[in-house]
Amino acid sequence: TTNNEEQKVVLVTGASSGIGEATARRLAAEGHHVILAARRTDRLEAIVEDLKHTGHSAERRTLDVTDRSAFQSLVNDVIQRRGRLDVLVANAGVMLLSRLDALLADEWDRMLDVNVRGLYNGIAAVLPHFRNQRAGHLLTIASIGAHEVVATSAIYSATKFAAWALTEGLRQESDPAIRVTTISPGVTESELADHITDPYAAKAMVDYRANAIPASAIAAAVSFAVSQPADVDVNEIIVRPAAQR
Ligand code: NDP
Repeated sequence: TTNNEEQKVVLVTGASSGIGEATARRLAAEGHHVILAARRTDRLEAIVEDLKHTGHSAERRTLDVTDRSAFQSLVNDVIQRRGRLDVLVANAGVMLLSRLDALLADEWDRMLDVNVRGLYNGIAAVLPHFRNQRAGHLLTIASIGAHEVVATSAIYSATKFAAWALTEGLRQESDPAIRVTTISPGVTESELADHITDPYAAKAMVDYRANAIPASAIAAAVSFAVSQPADVDVNEIIVRPAAQR
């Protein structure tokens, strides 16, 4: 457990399932105050109730990360009520895999909107406060797909390369008191692949998912980066199933 001085105010996007939920649970269990954000309010409510029941400090906020002004209002409200925001875990994302020649252009737009626009909306919302506080920590949940491309991942990988670049750009431009971490998971248990509509990509995912590691493995990497002393900036962690080539 942490004492009050070490208690951080943490906002996790996409906290209603998978990696975001596991991260929110882990950071709350470590004594931080966690704000869980996503669109599915009922899911958030159940998780927050569970956390509070076990004596942890958590609250839920309904948020679509593609809505820039909603993101801004949420962050401003957190600052007003709690005095600060120490950590943003930018985790919300979608992975609608398909080959380019399937031409699922609406799904391409969706990935760009959530994975890229959703990320820079978050950066825009927190950066003024991080600068005022002269402290802050952005953790971006990117992907192995930020480092490699496989058939069906062209657009998804493009959005994750972009997420990597945005996070690295923030690091280079920021006051040293602002820390920046990219976490790049390999195949992890979550609801991510359930939304794939392309039959070819869905079939390919079945083999991939046989090796999936639990979302708690990614939450552990987030926790490691968050818990470092203020002068230690963990810039990237890649975590993949040992069996994933
Ligand atoms: P899940 O589908 O379980 O979680 C995705 C989360 O993102 C949900 O909580 C969902 O909540 C939220 N989300 C989606 N769209 C929006 C939106 N517009 N606004 C706010 N929240 C949104 O999958 P994962 O836990 O796996 O995904 C989390 C992150 O991890 C993603 O960025 C993904 O790309 C990345 N990742 C996952 C890997 C894996 O194998 N699982 C591997 C590499 C990276 P809601 O629908 O309630 O809004």
